[in-house]
Amino acid sequence: MPISFDLAPNSQKARDYFHEMARSQMRPLSRRYDDEEHGFPTEWVDYYWREGREGPPDMDIPGPSDGFVQVCIQAEELCWGDAALYLRIPSPALGGSAVASAGTQEQRERFLTPFRGEGAPVWGAMAITEPGAGSDTAAIQTSAELDGDEYVLNGTKIFCTSGEAASQHEGGFVVVWATVDRSAGRGGIKAFVVPAGTPGMRLGGLEKKLGIRASDTATLVFENCRVPRANLLGSAEVKKKKAGSPGDKGFKGAMATFDASRPIVAAMAVGVGRAALDFTLEMLEAEGVPLRYDAPLQTQSAVERDLIEMQAELQAARLLTWRAAAMMNRGRPNSLEASIAKAKAGLVVTRITQKAVEILGPAGYSKKLLVEKWMRDAKISDIYEGTQQINQLIVARRILEYSSSMLR
Ligand SMILES: Cc1cc2nc3c(=O)[nH]c(=O)nc-3n(C[C@H](O)[C@H](O)[C@H](O)COP(=O)(O)OP(=O)(O)OC[C@H]3O[C@@H](n4cnc5c(N)ncnc54)[C@H](O)[C@@H]3O)c2cc1C
Repeated sequence: MPISFDLAPNSQKARDYFHEMARSQMRPLSRRYDDEEHGFPTEWVDYYWREGREGPPDMDIPGPSDGFVQVCIQAEELCWGDAALYLRIPSPALGGSAVASAGTQEQRERFLTPFRGEGAPVWGAMAITEPGAGSDTAAIQTSAELDGDEYVLNGTKIFCTSGEAASQHEGGFVVVWATVDRSAGRGGIKAFVVPAGTPGMRLGGLEKKLGIRASDTATLVFENCRVPRANLLGSAEVKKKKAGSPGDKGFKGAMATFDASRPIVAAMAVGVGRAALDFTLEMLEAEGVPLRYDAPLQTQSAVERDLIEMQAELQAARLLTWRAAAMMNRGRPNSLEASIAKAKAGLVVTRITQKAVEILGPAGYSKKLLVEKWMRDAKISDIYEGTQQINQLIVARRILEYSSSMLR
């Protein structure tokens, strides 16, 4: 079968539509909400909820669809606009991916319908990280104890993206990872949907951050928080001896969320990197320093070499991202490719944004421009959804066929 790197017409249309949205609606708000760290970007949220979420009009051009690749294209364009405001979009987000991949049809309808409705904006979130458990998810201490027809959750979750919005706005929900049996390790970890406003779930505080400062990053505390038994995602069965084995659907099902979310985070990183690169090229062009692709190598300047390398790296990250997304589209296992894309894009965006600041000198460092902000926004791509090191570890395990206990 011939390989085609062309986008389907619908995807091209979506790319143009979201690019214009990023330019006209997000960029003008970027500096303000970066400065007002915990301010609520009302105009952006309302605009997106009213108009943006519908996507471009006349999207039904006949022909093949890029499906999940299109989701990545939207993420890249909107993060070219502003990655933190992208994270503020009212959507089920990661929590929604967990419900979609591990939930039943009834759960999908119950929790995801408000996101399609005409009511007020709604958010979803995923709460895995704890003060004592980040990369090592098996160390999760938040407990879920069955009491009659309810699970009782106790514990603290930190760094939860959209944690405030998802826990406070009616119709939203937080997917909370908790253990039903600590002695079972990973096998005891299950995901529970906690609807916004559930008694016993409270906001413990908001995080002040280096970058993506407009994004809501919350601590959530669970104190005797009761959810119906029917809010458990996946199987309630605890596989004690074979935790992490193929039969261990609860933990594995929840981990499968990352196969979908890592390509999106990679696409977000590509968007931030492209913002910095596009802007640097524009600035140099305006100063009469064009990029000469066709000049003999020995006559190119060091800056030209840097810029060409930045473009090549960005394109490599994008193609790896689209590959992981396209595999997901076709229902093919993509854990390896999702981690490769995420690790590559995290590295590339960090380098590109730092280089952009370097090339532009004091202007790049000044708050008059957004380049310094993009540099701060970039680093998170290397931290959440599995750090750079963890994704490299996953890639190594998959290629070498080592289990997680063989290669830690
Ligand atoms: C802005 C922001 C938003 C976030 N949003 C969410 C969210 O919505 N939901 C959520 O649950 N979490 C979220 N997180 C948490 C994030 O996923 C974790 O910070 C991340 O998984 C790392 O975990 P940790 O902080 O405990 O670091 P650690 O696991 O303690 O890691 C510290 C360092 O050690 C390295 N390391 C750890 N283990 C290994 C190993 N085996 N081999 C080599 N190196 C290793 C890591 O790569 C890292 O560099 C968010 C974090 C931030 C900063």
